[in-house]
Parts: sequence; C-alpha cells; structure tokens
Amino acid sequence: MHADSSPVLDRPHSKPAALRWRNRYAALGPAFHTRLPAQALPQPHWVATSDSAAALLGWPADWADRPDWHALEVLSGGPPWEDSEPLATVYSGHQFGVWAGQLGDGRALLLGEIDTPNGPMELQIKGGGRTPYSRMGDGRAVLRSSIREFLCSEAMHHLGIPTTRALAIVGSALPVRRETMETAAVVTRVAPSFVRFGHFEHFAHHGLPTELRALADFVIEHHYPACRDATNPYAALLEAVARRTAVLMADWQAVGFCHGVMNTDNLSILGLTIDYGPFGFLDGFDPGHVCNHSDHQGRYAYARQPGVALWNLHALAQAMLPLIAMGGEVTEATGDLALEAIEPYKAVFAGTLEARLRGKLGLATARDDDRQLADDWLALMAAERADYTITWRRLARHSPADPGAVRDLFLDRPAFDAWAERYARRLAAEGSIDAERGERMNRVNPKFVLRNHLCENAIRAAQAGDFGETRHLLKVLERPYDEQPEHSACAEFPPDWAQTLEVSCSS
Ligand code: AMP
Ligand code: MG
Repeated sequence: MHADSSPVLDRPHSKPAALRWRNRYAALGPAFHTRLPAQALPQPHWVATSDSAAALLGWPADWADRPDWHALEVLSGGPPWEDSEPLATVYSGHQFGVWAGQLGDGRALLLGEIDTPNGPMELQIKGGGRTPYSRMGDGRAVLRSSIREFLCSEAMHHLGIPTTRALAIVGSALPVRRETMETAAVVTRVAPSFVRFGHFEHFAHHGLPTELRALADFVIEHHYPACRDATNPYAALLEAVARRTAVLMADWQAVGFCHGVMNTDNLSILGLTIDYGPFGFLDGFDPGHVCNHSDHQGRYAYARQPGVALWNLHALAQAMLPLIAMGGEVTEATGDLALEAIEPYKAVFAGTLEARLRGKLGLATARDDDRQLADDWLALMAAERADYTITWRRLARHSPADPGAVRDLFLDRPAFDAWAERYARRLAAEGSIDAERGERMNRVNPKFVLRNHLCENAIRAAQAGDFGETRHLLKVLERPYDEQPEHSACAEFPPDWAQTLEVSCSS
C-alpha cells in the first residue's frame, strides 16, 4: 500500500466519550508512516489487562467490559475507535552492529494518541497483521511472547524503571507458525512516544534531510521542550537522549535486567525500555550472561549493555550530524559537537550506577571508596554465581552481629567474612541502624522479578487456556519490593529446569 492511499477502514466503533484523540504523529505526513487498518484476530478473548496501565490513561475500572467501548474488538485489531488513525511507522536501524536498512513497524500499529491525566499517550497494538514494513514476517505475535512483553513491561514500571507500558493482551485460536505451531495474540502498548533511534537513522541514511529535521523538531516540541531554547537545539536533544539512556542503563544493570536485542531500532528516544523479546533477569550472577540464544557472539551480554548503548548513541549522533550542522556543511567541528553531546553519557551512567549501588548497599551517605566496596561485592557474587536478586535482598537482613542467611549463599566463607567486615566498618562509620537500613534496602532491592521460569509457568498455563497464573503474576510484580509472604514461591531460586529454557528472537 502506498503511503498516500486512503486506507479503507471497516466501520469505526463510536468513540468512547472518555477518549480524546490527538494523533500528532499521524500529522507528520506520509513520509513517516503508512495508514492502514489492522487485521482482526478471529474470536478474540481477554488474556489479561493491567488496571495500573488503565489508571495511567485515566480510564474507568470496567473499561474492558463496557459494551459501549468495544475494547476487545478494537484491541484485537478489529475496527478502530472513531477518530483513531491506525498507522505503521517507518524506521531503519543497526542490528547486531550491522546496518540493516529499512525496518519499520512490521506488526505494530499505532492506533493514535489520546489525552490522559498524565499527558498525551500513544496506543499501539502489536500483532495486528502485516504492514508494508513486515518484510518476511507474518505481522503476528504469539501468545508466548505477548505474555512476556505484557508482564515485563508492567514489572519494569513497578520496579521504577522507565518503560513502555502494557495495557492488555488479547488471545485467539489463530494458528501462527514459529519453531512450532503456536497461537496469536495482540498486546496493547502505551507510551508518550514509540520513536526509536532508528527513526532518525532512517531519514538520515535515506537522504531525507527535511523529514529528518521535521522528526527532530517533533520530538523536541513534544518531548524535550527545554532543548528548544539551546543555541543548538539538536545537539541539546542528542545530549538529553544520551543522559536518559545513561540513567536507563544504570537502572538495568542495578536490577540485573538483560534486554537481549539492543539494536538501534530497539532503543527509545525517550530512554524507555522498549521491545521486550528475549530479555531475562539474572539468576546466578554472571556478568557475561547472554539471555538471547540467537546472540551467538554475546554482543548483548549483561555486562556489555552500557557500552552497546553508547555505541547506539554514536549511531544516533551520526544520523543527527546534518541537524547539528544547523543548515551548514557537516564538518569535523560538527562531529566534535556531536561527540561532545554524547560525552555526558559516561559520567551520568557511572554516577547513576554508583548511586544505585550505594542505595542497594543501604548506605545513606557517600564516600569515595563506596564503588570499590560495591564492585568487590559484585565480584564475590560473580565468583560464586550467587543469585543476583536473592543475594541483594538477603543483604538487607544481614547484620554484622548476625550474618544470617546471606552468608549461607557463599561457599567461600572467608572471602564473604572479609568483605562483610569492610561493610560493617563502612556502616558503623555512618552510624547506620540495621533496622532502618534494612527497610531502605528493601525499597530498592526487589524481592520479585520476572524470572524466565515464572514467566514460562504462566505461558504454559495460558497456552492450555488458564490465564490465572498470568494475572496472578502481574499482581505480584506490581509490588516487587513488598514482602508478600503469601507469594514467596515467586521469590525462590530458579528450579533446575530453568537452566535449559532457551529464549530466542522468535516471537
Ligand atoms: P525485533 O527484533 O522484534 O525488534 O524486530 C525487528 C523488525 O522485524 C521490526 O521491524 C519488526 O517490526 C519486524 N518483525 C519482527 N517480527 C515480525 C513479524 N512476525 N511480522 C512482521 N514483522 C516482524
Ligand atoms: Mg523491535
């Protein structure tokens, strides 16, 4: 379908009174997207909905079941709401370090943008059929990967980590071929913007300077208004993106999250975690952990993520050179300006990670050698493949007088004791009170993260028609820092079979 062709949409559903549409991305014009309708899933049913995401939108609690909303039909790719202008956006990107050319929303459709009490939010369905950017893909998403994306989006949000949100999953019996036959689902995602680094790369690499500039101006106006007043707004935008990306990387590293596919088309211009595929939370701590079984080189290993984000920022900077030149020729000085703009990434990442680690250690004050103390703790954990989440959580209950359960996690007791003695001295130096420290630590060291095996259990049940585990897990993950003793089973060590779980790009 050509970008200009008028989409032939099914009769739209009357718009729920609560929804006021803006559709500012649609207004950018046909160089940025293709308008087209979704292809509805047959006989859709709800798998799960997120009350918390609905609250973000300011929607009524019963939105999913209100007959006048037709939400199940709309969010399964049926006729859209009146005034929604479904479209697929075009982007390009570097995949695994190599220029991949044009990509785009191959199975995602932006339904549009609505006003919410929390500002304008875009609604996007993923798995709603083929688009002009589908390449070899079928435009569908399977239930398995949709549950993973849905649960992890919401889990990350409740961990306090910037992310796109997930409002709902709809399932269907429609068969979809992956390694095996599976069934289709659609996830509805919510974010202020789904613009990726790859959107900028697209217009830069395809020699479309006017569109590149329109995109940058759009992002500045709606998402980074403070950059407008800078001497060079585009360098300011690049720097602002670098800073947000740095904070996001510190958050990922601190919580032990591995994204798995940090291609430039999977990095958000807003510094949000986006595109949950073969992600994983660390179990036993291995800095070299590779969660994506398709990533044979380990390019996106846990410890490499901060460096990869910087690599991606260089790709973004490259794409933005014509903008940073401010209408003039791109010269060496332009390159210097671009490099200068992303330079703060390193210090912001290091500073934020240090602050996160200090918080995880329960330190209320800052000292120069805190980073060393944290690094030695991480090295100790790595040496024994100590469970990343459980070890940090147990440290909250560690007291110098009674080393307790965290010490039991280490075979090399002398090494643990030597570190614990330094930790005790450091705590004493700030007059730390164990009970207060423990409470502080429990607010930053989660008890519950979405480990692969938890997700897998929910997926297997859902594939057999039981969505109870998915919904239950969502509730538990909405309070990751609370004890929730009744759900302690979700905070246990991974079972042996979790080691053999393979998560790939196939979704
Ligand atoms: P990902 O690696 O999931 O971020 O996807 C990379 C590109 O492939 C994006 O342009 C996606 O829209 C597209 N894509 C992935 N899976 C499918 C699919 N099943 N159908 C169509 N396009 C897809
Ligand atoms: Mg992607």
